[in-house]
Amino acid sequence: MLRITGGKVYDPTNGIDGVVKDLCILDGRIVSEVEGGRVIDATGMFVFPGGVDIHTHVAGAALNFARAMTPENHRQATVFLRTPERRGGIGGPTPTTFATGYLYAGMGYTTVIEAAVPVLTAKHTHEELRDTPIVDKGCCVLMANNEIVLDLLEAGETERAKDVVAWLIWAAKAYGVKAVNPGGVTAWKWGKDAKAMFEPVPGYDKVMPATIVASLAQIVDQLGLPHPLHLHCNNLGAPGNVTTTLETMKVLEGSRAHMAHLQFHSYGGDDWDTMRSEAASLAEYFNAHPNLTADAGAILFGNAVTVTADGPWQHFLYQLTGRKWGNLDVENETGCGIVPYTYKGSNLVNAVQWAVGLELLLLISDPWRIFLTTDHPNGACFWRYPEIIHLLMNADVRRERVKALPHKALARTVLGELNREYTLSEIAIITSAGPARALGLSQKGHLGVGADADVAIYNEKPDGELLFRYPRYVIKAGEIVVEEGEIRNISNGRGFVVHPGYDESVEAYLRPLFQQYYTMSFENYPVELERIERPEIRSCK
Ligand SMILES: [Zn+2]
Repeated sequence: MLRITGGKVYDPTNGIDGVVKDLCILDGRIVSEVEGGRVIDATGMFVFPGGVDIHTHVAGAALNFARAMTPENHRQATVFLRTPERRGGIGGPTPTTFATGYLYAGMGYTTVIEAAVPVLTAKHTHEELRDTPIVDKGCCVLMANNEIVLDLLEAGETERAKDVVAWLIWAAKAYGVKAVNPGGVTAWKWGKDAKAMFEPVPGYDKVMPATIVASLAQIVDQLGLPHPLHLHCNNLGAPGNVTTTLETMKVLEGSRAHMAHLQFHSYGGDDWDTMRSEAASLAEYFNAHPNLTADAGAILFGNAVTVTADGPWQHFLYQLTGRKWGNLDVENETGCGIVPYTYKGSNLVNAVQWAVGLELLLLISDPWRIFLTTDHPNGACFWRYPEIIHLLMNADVRRERVKALPHKALARTVLGELNREYTLSEIAIITSAGPARALGLSQKGHLGVGADADVAIYNEKPDGELLFRYPRYVIKAGEIVVEEGEIRNISNGRGFVVHPGYDESVEAYLRPLFQQYYTMSFENYPVELERIERPEIRSCK
């Protein structure tokens, strides 16, 4: 039982914008009134719904591979020593599981979506998510290069493809469906890519990236999943890729879709010398198409580790940078590449990328459709989000930073001309209310009666310049987990899973394919529900 009194409440879902009011909490939920219990005096503080990260990479085989490949980062990282309350771990660009939970909660985030999980290694992902304390979590299963699905699309068997996708979602105990470089990752198994939306994917006669995008978006909508298709477009990172991104968005007309890390897909120019921001033209299209949501995938200067299923892009990045490169092939489902990377303010391309992420957040007019992410750990670490919030809220600070960019970058971006400054309410939308709505998590992202009691409380005047770096209190499911900047209580979050309906006879279709093509038997493939920490199965309409 808990009462938070005296704080200015920011709860945009319920139309509350900085109103001083009490919040009452009982049995993990927001209630209208409580008698007795602890009282937190939040006078001089801002009260926000707990943060919701719609796109991050924090668990599973790819992350473990990235952690193993970057011991140099671990040596410089924050160390979390084991205490009676807390497990040990290290931070840095790819924090360990325990540290991931502490760092998210320590920033006021209480729900996290792991954005890319192959079915084949989903057990590993769920075991790591289980070891990620405090936060609630879910994951998106990779589907746009699954050869069983692509073969069915090639054969025109869309009804069966829908059943297979539904079966695979439940096998992975996933919450949503992710598409990464549709067709390109399967082509990469032969050293190729799929760069043109309307040309057949290598190895197929009919299936084009556009076919995969349209079919998966429709299947996800038909299955009634709470979250739409979560899409990483073709040609990530390449100069001129705005053409592909716009073509993809046109293919999606009539369906819902979430465009992941849009920053990496918003470039003009013909090559690295002429690369420029196309955030303005992309935002113009996006603003007119309410079927779409997006997350920023903003970058910040400093060390990162790029981790993606987009194998061909990672090989190219390795060739560009000469840094370490790791490649994983995930049988006939997907791939994975790892390249450590350093974004430099003095580098023209990196300067443009930095501006593009901020431009998208400022030029997309509806904050309910663009969300704060860095595609952690690709663009920057998630624990650096407060630095981006600071830039969004301060046009003068942005202009100062723009002046420090390489001179050539200035003509390729419009960031210095943008005067918009985010309000506190808009920050609550892009970090919590908006992503919760896009995920269909109706009890998250707000502070109305019945909502999960996930609350972040910040000092109105922080010690440092960054308002959102150190919450004074974080409450997760009604328990105070962070107090005075210290982790106090280690609870374990829930796991969100969806169970779409499918024709049971699809198992008879899949079983012999496993015998023929997989290293794992059909019986051993699905993730058991028991592996999920306190599973909450979300309904499909
Ligand atoms: Zn990602």
